[in-house]
Amino acid sequence: MAISRNAASHTHAAVVGFRWNSWRPLLECKLCRSITFSVFLLILAIESIILVPSALNFYNNELRRLEEKAVATVGAVLAVESGSLRPDHLQPRISGLLRDTRILGLSVLRRDGSILARAGDADFDDFSFEEVLQDPHRVVQRRIRNGRCYDIAWSRNVNGTPLILLARMDSSALNAALLAFVLRIAGLVALIVAVVTTGTMIVLHRSVLNPILTLRRSMLAAAAKPGRAHDFRIRERPSDELGDVFEAHNRMLRSVAESKLADRLRAEEQARFLVRHDTLTGLPNRAFLLEHLRQLLQAACQRGESVVVFAVNLAAFRAINDGLGEAAGDQVLREAARRLNEGLQARQFVARLDGDNFAIARAGAIQPPESAAQAEQILARLSQPVEVSGAEVRLQAKIGIAYSKGDCVDPETLLHDANLALSSARRDARTRYEFFAPSMAEEARRRQEIERELKYALEHEGLQLYYQPKVELDSVARQPYFVACEALMRWPHPRRGMLPPAQFIPVAEATGLILPLGDWALRAACAQICSWQAEHRAPPRIAVNLSAEQFRDRDLPERVGRILQACGTDPALLELEITESAAMEDAANTVKTLSALRKLGVQLAIDDFGTGYSSLSYLRKFDIDSIKIDKSFVDDIGRDPNADAICEAIIGLGRSLGKRVVAEGVETDTQLEFLRGRGCHEAQGYLFGRPAPAAEFAAKLARRD
Ligand code: C2E
Ligand code: MG
Ligand code: MG
Repeated sequence: MAISRNAASHTHAAVVGFRWNSWRPLLECKLCRSITFSVFLLILAIESIILVPSALNFYNNELRRLEEKAVATVGAVLAVESGSLRPDHLQPRISGLLRDTRILGLSVLRRDGSILARAGDADFDDFSFEEVLQDPHRVVQRRIRNGRCYDIAWSRNVNGTPLILLARMDSSALNAALLAFVLRIAGLVALIVAVVTTGTMIVLHRSVLNPILTLRRSMLAAAAKPGRAHDFRIRERPSDELGDVFEAHNRMLRSVAESKLADRLRAEEQARFLVRHDTLTGLPNRAFLLEHLRQLLQAACQRGESVVVFAVNLAAFRAINDGLGEAAGDQVLREAARRLNEGLQARQFVARLDGDNFAIARAGAIQPPESAAQAEQILARLSQPVEVSGAEVRLQAKIGIAYSKGDCVDPETLLHDANLALSSARRDARTRYEFFAPSMAEEARRRQEIERELKYALEHEGLQLYYQPKVELDSVARQPYFVACEALMRWPHPRRGMLPPAQFIPVAEATGLILPLGDWALRAACAQICSWQAEHRAPPRIAVNLSAEQFRDRDLPERVGRILQACGTDPALLELEITESAAMEDAANTVKTLSALRKLGVQLAIDDFGTGYSSLSYLRKFDIDSIKIDKSFVDDIGRDPNADAICEAIIGLGRSLGKRVVAEGVETDTQLEFLRGRGCHEAQGYLFGRPAPAAEFAAKLARRD
């Protein structure tokens, strides 16, 4: 599609149109107009300069002719005279001469100046003709009366008598002749100017304007489609400088097209990269991982090898994101990606799936012990401290491992299996990595079913709170006195009977259902407080458990405040139990949340104390009322001296920090006696009562009262 100058000028109509259309740009072209006009002015000036001397020359020649004619005519008249010159002879002759010629007046003088004869307009008084006297060959001239008359003086020897002749001629016709001459020349000049101007225009049109317009068309077309710029190159190659311009222009079009092509290829490459990579870490994304896994699995399936996938999750990443900000979170993710990538061996592939989830794929004859060792390595590498926003963060991760074991599974299934193993590892605080087992798929299905049914139960009042008493140990010797109780959730399942929290709380935590579930428990407990307050003299405190997921929620204090207000409950009768592990997950944030909850006037307790690696310095900062010794220590009282020592230490610690110490899971008198003997304040356990529905617990309260 190269641009041609003469395109589209072939049909008749086009030809007619072409003439006008091809001239129109010329007339509209400012550059051509100014060149043509300059040429026009230049020729005009040159011709004008030539015209003036020509006109003068013409005039002088005419005068000369007039003069020569007069000299000849007068000479002829005088030549006829023979002998001595007689005025009476001469006078009629010269008078006759005046009638027949354009001589207006004639004076014939002797050398001494005396007049020999004279006729017509012969007033030559102020005519100085001395030069004629000195040089007999000279003719002296003058123009008078605005060029209408022309006087000449010359000498002549007639029959030996030297004479001076003065003649006045009518030169008025010369002006008209001069004008006619000038007009003729001017007409000629105009013709020359017209021809030269037209010629200039034709040359400009062909040699300048057309090439410029061709260049412009090519430029505009290339600018509109820079990617195809080279298609609009100019094929002609004029032999003048414009030919060089065209060649340079064509070279430019080629380089524009090439750079556009390079840009497009780069952009396509970038787009391909973005589609298959994660922008934050630069790692391949889920789609790319699945694509890669598919290839690995196909090859492995043919060779009978296995492919292993490690699904990696950064534990407590959310706390980093919430506590230190998203920029810090991003930095942690990038660092984690770098560490995962760094330790890669050949034929391994690492990808970021989403959020804090990564995966590593590996093919070959890999056995579980080797994978376990690799998982340990990954965990060790990730657990190296990271410096983020001035704080040192230690990453903890969980890993789920799944194998293809030579069977031809699809990549989605293998990744799903690894994720199931990861979920299983995440559910157990002590497990760091876990291998996929088929039972996990069954478990996942069961959990999905629980989730669906739990949602339904929550929306249709299908859940209950059971209440388990807490007694004051001082009073036990006389009569156990119920000072408080713990609200424990129960789910009367239509098919599976009464389900304990362990069977549905973890599912609720994993699916986010725990927030509405927790709100429901708080509302139900608050309503119960109000009802018992109305019925009993000393209504017991009700403790409600908060899961780690609820405690991480930044709006928790606000939610609790709203519920207390909506139910009109005395906050002093509501206690919130937070497990030690949840409290220590982000201890700095826990300090803030606890003090915000404290401002509401509720009681706060650390549950399952002794299992969650408490930092004693933080324990001092936690604004809490009580600590609950975990049931596992109470169980072993009297059987394991270590358990005795731990219980004694926790009681001592709690008392010295000014906190109430509560022992949970008290089942035997031995345990009771031990605890009371060490100064434990309260106890909870089957020894005093099992969790029971509200009505049953109310009956116990009535007996207590
Ligand atoms: P927890 O808060 O440590 O509750 C004490 C658990 O120990 C209760 O189990 C209780 O029935 C059991 N228990 C108390 N005394 C004895 C005893 O003498 N012997 C034995 N064998 N067990 C005893 P439960 O009701 O199954 O609750 C288990 C866990 O579920 C609770 O541990 C708590 O963490 C959680 N949970 C219960 N209700 C809720 C709730 O409404 N919200 C949340 N987030 N978690 C809840
Ligand atoms: Mg509890
Ligand atoms: Mg507990």
